[in-house]
Amino acid sequence: MILAVTMNPSVDISYHVESFKLDDINRVEDLRKTAGGKGLNVARVTAQMEEAVMATGVLGGTIGDYIVQELNKSNIPNDFLKIKKESRNCIAILHEGMQTEILESGPALSKEEGAAFLEKFEGLLANTSLVAVSGSLPKGLAANYYQQMLKISHKMGVRMILDSSGESLSQALLCEKKPFAIKPNTAELSQLLGMKVDAEIANLKQTLNHPLFHGIEWIIVSMGGEGAFVRHGDDDYKVTIPKIEVVNPVGSGDATVAGFAVALNRNQSVETILKTAMTTGMLNTMEAGTGYIDVNKMNEYFDFIKVEKV
Ligand code: ADP
Repeated sequence: MILAVTMNPSVDISYHVESFKLDDINRVEDLRKTAGGKGLNVARVTAQMEEAVMATGVLGGTIGDYIVQELNKSNIPNDFLKIKKESRNCIAILHEGMQTEILESGPALSKEEGAAFLEKFEGLLANTSLVAVSGSLPKGLAANYYQQMLKISHKMGVRMILDSSGESLSQALLCEKKPFAIKPNTAELSQLLGMKVDAEIANLKQTLNHPLFHGIEWIIVSMGGEGAFVRHGDDDYKVTIPKIEVVNPVGSGDATVAGFAVALNRNQSVETILKTAMTTGMLNTMEAGTGYIDVNKMNEYFDFIKVEKV
């Protein structure tokens, strides 16, 4: 089973208004509410690929109840730690071709809740072959919380894919127990190292020699429409993808993590793992829904992807 962790999930609300007026009443013409969070996207795409999955993390209040209800509706097994405070709403106002976002930072966890989740996490790992941890940490948890989760997953012998950014990622990479895989994009790499990292191969090769990355088995640097650069052990790969019509790119990194996790869990070859990861990322961009792929298109796009050693 693949375990997909989201520590700060949300209900994502998008409001469509014809024109957005400041300091006035805005009446909503159309709205969409979804259970949001990077790990939930990973769980959804993994479930669509018919791989056993469990969604976990922390949630609370009626917003937390809504998230569970949505996951149940989509038949995604879930086991979250209930916390005292209410989970967050994230609002996107779509107006005049623009997107204005209002993002709550989410509930602060108590020390006890932080400790209780680590206990739950360890319990869930007993039935897990691969764990994907996605997104940022909620308030109240120590910056090294992902380090603590890494230590537990090492102890339990479960490989961890960590898809995070900023302080949560940099702290985790300082741990002597490294994640099994990470999936930064070039912006996240730049932020992590405090210098501009561009998509040029020689530059990426040199960047990944940084000591922070030593001991990580898979580093997938996803580059949107340009595919990805990947380091696996001592080998580097350039993965090229075809041009496609993009409908909504939000969540494509999460879909990539899901495809990667599923192929890895099925013990597939390096080439198949990389092609699967790129295909699920691409298929996500072709749909309006976030964390949704049309699995029927899998084979068609898979064959267009080129993996070459560089
Ligand atoms: P993130 O959302 O984490 O920044 P990326 O934007 O790099 O991740 O996208 C992850 C993957 O999704 C890419 O490697 C690619 O396979 C696919 N993808 C994303 N944007 C596009 C695009 N414009 N055209 C084709 N594929 C895309």
